[in-house]
Amino acid sequence: MYNLVTYPNPILKQRCEPFDFEKPQVDLDLLLTDKKRVLEDEEGFGLAAPQVGVALRIFLINGATTNQYNDKKQFEPMVFINPTVTPVRDMKVVLPEGCLSFPAGDGSVDVERPLFVKVEAFDRHGKSFTIDCSDGFQQILDDEFVDESNRIILSRVIQHENDHLDGVTLLDRVKGISKEMFKRKLRKYRS
Ligand SMILES: [Zn+2]
Repeated sequence: MYNLVTYPNPILKQRCEPFDFEKPQVDLDLLLTDKKRVLEDEEGFGLAAPQVGVALRIFLINGATTNQYNDKKQFEPMVFINPTVTPVRDMKVVLPEGCLSFPAGDGSVDVERPLFVKVEAFDRHGKSFTIDCSDGFQQILDDEFVDESNRIILSRVIQHENDHLDGVTLLDRVKGISKEMFKRKLRKYRS
């Protein structure tokens, strides 16, 4: 059974390998079932495979955040395998972020990232899909199903989870004084 892995476990610093659909390195169904359980138990936005000790390029994002793209399976976490993430539009924004692998009380910290990204990935059946989080951003007010804040959250969670696949953690993204404060919080929590 796969369980949550937390800082400073070295797997969180590792660059993950692509998942091989032809010769799967793990039982994908078992991995996804366990990741879904951890994500829901911890009430997280997203969960990357290294966060359950598997160095493969797979992450899940919770159903509430992905529901607008996931209409056949209402509120099921959405699976992203071997994703490619690219920023769209030249706009950056600072938002608070937390990470299940850094359980430091109110462990959210401010991180600057592009506002919108596009992601190309494969679903659990190996079918490719693309989501552009900025799509229709101008028409949002005309579309009752599209929640603007949801797109921004989704874009943010995709970037955070994709970082995990490259061995980049929240701690690497925090700068200056907040980095020291975050480290102190972590030390306090662990001692
Ligand atoms: Zn995380």
